[in-house]
Amino acid sequence: MSNVIAMDGPSGAGKSSVSRIVGSKLGYLHVDSGALYRIMTWRCLEEGVDTADSSAVAAFAEKVEIECVPEGGRIMYLVGGEEPGDRIRTPEINAHASEVATVKEVRERITSILRGLVRFGDLVVEGRDITTAVFPDSPARFYLTASAEARARRRRKEEVEKGIANQSEEAVKASLLARDAIDSTRKYAPLRKADGVVEIDSSDLTLDQVVETVMGALPDGWRKA
Ligand code: C5P
Repeated sequence: MSNVIAMDGPSGAGKSSVSRIVGSKLGYLHVDSGALYRIMTWRCLEEGVDTADSSAVAAFAEKVEIECVPEGGRIMYLVGGEEPGDRIRTPEINAHASEVATVKEVRERITSILRGLVRFGDLVVEGRDITTAVFPDSPARFYLTASAEARARRRRKEEVEKGIANQSEEAVKASLLARDAIDSTRKYAPLRKADGVVEIDSSDLTLDQVVETVMGALPDGWRKA
């Protein structure tokens, strides 16, 4: 059976950087579950599906084909044989992804894709419902948080460095908080801190310190690749 490290938390808390590093230290594949919700959102917008219409989104999501391939330490997603890349990281996708993620059928489809990834080996999976709904029985579950200011600062830096957008820190913060609000109040698998998870507030911690905390909290025997 594969080991699964589950990591949840709000947008910009550092889940991606932390889980990527932990995965590479352990030889576990990094799984970015948010990218799947972003791909669904991107395809809806490309095809003119109204993301506020949950029945239309549910019907459309069934048809979106996503291929999952282990590649370079992570699960790579291909749509029509191509990686979507930064096309799924735009402010427009940010603005609609949480809406698409409220749709039950979308969540069921993505949950089933994620659970199926254990066929590729040990995983570190990050998202919003990994510790509560996708892999709730994992013995290695983490909830990563940070202040809204720290999260907005990091997310803006990332967008500017990648040349995706150049919004003010205030605009990035407003967008993060809007997504957090939808993610934590939705009916199906809302973002919440589950009982028994290890909570880490990364506001005043370096990336290395967060990684060390995660590594130190893993079950015995998980540290070797
Ligand atoms: O992690 P990321 O910011 O890329 O996720 C984009 C959106 O996808 C989130 O705001 C959330 O609405 C949704 N999501 C989710 N469940 C997950 C991962 C992401 O609902 N496990």
